[in-house]
Amino acid sequence: MLAKRLEKLHPYVPGEQPKDRDYIKLNANENPYPPHPAVAEAIKGAVDRRTEKLGLYPDPDANVLRTSIADMLNSTGGVFCTSKISGEKCEPSEKDKIPFTVTPDMIFCGNGSDEVLSFVFYTFFDGDRPLVMPEFTYSFYPVYCGYYGIPMDAIPLKSDWTLDKEKMLSSANKNNSSIIFANPNAPTGLSLTRDEVAEMIRKAPRDRIFVVDEAYCDFGGESCIPLLKDFDNLVIVRTFSKSLSFAGMRLGYVVSSPDLIKAIFTVKNSFNHFPVDFITQTAGAASCKEAWYYAENAKKIADERDSFTEFLRQRGWFVIDSRTNFVFTKKDGLSGDAIYQAVKKSGILIRHFATPGIEDFVRITIGTHEQMEQLKKTLESL
Ligand SMILES: *Cc1c(COP(=O)(O)O)cnc(C)c1O
Repeated sequence: MLAKRLEKLHPYVPGEQPKDRDYIKLNANENPYPPHPAVAEAIKGAVDRRTEKLGLYPDPDANVLRTSIADMLNSTGGVFCTSKISGEKCEPSEKDKIPFTVTPDMIFCGNGSDEVLSFVFYTFFDGDRPLVMPEFTYSFYPVYCGYYGIPMDAIPLKSDWTLDKEKMLSSANKNNSSIIFANPNAPTGLSLTRDEVAEMIRKAPRDRIFVVDEAYCDFGGESCIPLLKDFDNLVIVRTFSKSLSFAGMRLGYVVSSPDLIKAIFTVKNSFNHFPVDFITQTAGAASCKEAWYYAENAKKIADERDSFTEFLRQRGWFVIDSRTNFVFTKKDGLSGDAIYQAVKKSGILIRHFATPGIEDFVRITIGTHEQMEQLKKTLESL
């Protein structure tokens, strides 16, 4: 009774959300800080004072929200962690200044960046050639390849866990393929500089789409938004889930040229006119206005990450340099699963992947200072 296409599906497995006890959750790269109070106020206001709006379809184009996102990107440069905060205002650091104004017609919003990625795959990738990606990157990309019947060309990382840019490019040029990766990458946490990405795009097929997923950029990466000035085949995917404490609300977006955004709208309107509901649009727009608060949190998380990395290295752990809100680490003599199990016993959840090649590692989301102190105690007792 089932459609044949189901055989090609290999669903993504998210970090566990257990109910048996109150764990400290350091396994899904969620933000340990709550949304700004103004976000809750905006939701309450929407429900109490605009109750009738709950019975009406939301703005299908999310225009107010897209304007708010554009404003936020212009005022932070797309990197919270390095933006300059004064009072309740942000300003991009010198190196993150965007050399043009991001406009709402350069933004597309969807129900989490997972859905946004699904629209991007449908809009830009055909089944007639492989899509080039790193072997280890966000594990939803292979899932969507199965979903849409897109062949995959997964290029192994180099021995230092960095992307093999040369192999990715030669492979893409051989088949005239599109390229996708996360920058910073997951689960490694390593980041390419904007100049390195620019050089890749210059050498990649110019009539194919080049996708950079910036889910973690706010924690210390370099955003590729400034490159939109030079490349009309660049598509940047971003999410509210991590740096904007919004994983429970579901909001992701694309930044690209107005022409490519229009194409994604065509796909969205052929699938679901209203992927972002009225409350999420309201809460999302309210979040953008408090970018300074989320920038402060991103700085705290980045500081905590750096001191946690130092802590681990002093105790003989191998830790990959992270520009994200997590670290990817392993220790000789301990299996990834053993670390995961021992930490779970102490009431803390971290992530372990059984995938060959990375099975010794664990991925630990950076929590609050108190949470990290508790985790350190457990790790010292291993
Ligand atoms: C978390 C994550 C996403 C998905 O984010 P949502 O907006 O919550 O769907 C996309 N890409 C990468 C690399 C991520 O880590």
